Amino acid sequence: MFAQIYKWFDNNKNNINNNNDDESIDMSRIIPFIAIHLACLLVFVVGVSWAALLICFLSYLIRMFAITAFYHRYFSHKSFKTSRPVQFVFAIIGATATQRGPIWWAAHHRHHHIHSDSEDDSHSPRHGFWHSHMKWFLMKKNFPVKSQYVKDLKQYPELRFVDRYDIFFPILLAIGLFVLGGWLDSKYPQLGTSSGQVLIWGYFVSTVLLSHVTYCINSLAHVFGFRTYETGDNSRNNFLLALLTLGEGWHNNHHCSPGSVKQGFKWWQIDISYYMLLMLSKLGVIWDLKYPNEALLQKKQILKLSNTGDKT
Ligand SMILES: [Zn+2]
Ligand SMILES: [Zn+2]
Repeated sequence: MFAQIYKWFDNNKNNINNNNDDESIDMSRIIPFIAIHLACLLVFVVGVSWAALLICFLSYLIRMFAITAFYHRYFSHKSFKTSRPVQFVFAIIGATATQRGPIWWAAHHRHHHIHSDSEDDSHSPRHGFWHSHMKWFLMKKNFPVKSQYVKDLKQYPELRFVDRYDIFFPILLAIGLFVLGGWLDSKYPQLGTSSGQVLIWGYFVSTVLLSHVTYCINSLAHVFGFRTYETGDNSRNNFLLALLTLGEGWHNNHHCSPGSVKQGFKWWQIDISYYMLLMLSKLGVIWDLKYPNEALLQKKQILKLSNTGDKT
């Protein structure tokens, strides 16, 4: 029992090895996952206020940016460069999203690009919607880091630290939000908020929304939407998902040119993460932004757009 609980706090203590094929669900992992969802029901106990909704929204926005711009475009695809401190800060903010650490995330994502929608893809919808949406990361075989894909990231001890103790960062965020709520309650009682309310909306509701919208890129963005480029997989461009994920919904564009810092290629393809990254580059926080190769895009373009064309 205690050994199981200890495993939640130190990923190195997990004895699941790297080469296992165990497709069963790790029960010790699914318990906190379900608990986070159930905790959202506490909104009926703590109530709601504009302050709590705003904090929920900001918590979503900042962490979604850390996931899309840094976990995905930076750690997984190296689509721009930055300094080691900035890399570390966004590794921590990303970890508060409760989607594991940057090394684990990038390793599985790089694996996805190599095996997209093939039998070996860890989260292809061809294995079923729920499998691609969330079952895949609850399976024992996907718990370890696929180390062979992330040798570059593993050389940083601070990133290994975040990966090893990833669970502490969401806990720290939750404590911080609880304290913030208490402070707002005592300083600005007219806001009508409380420590419990800010905790439930700012962490639990926000995290569940953030998680499922992120999972949709693995599930829905390989099923619903239109295809502009022939990418050898079923990736789609989806306007609604692009809005909700700050640009990740242009998933067919992304599979066509994975190393590109921007994923919306047309002016109307809203890509909020890219606009924010552009601002960071103007401020000198990031640099060497990579863009798609126009000749390659031309070559891969599908002339007849299709909403239903499956991989053949
Ligand atoms: Zn994909
Ligand atoms: Zn990617």
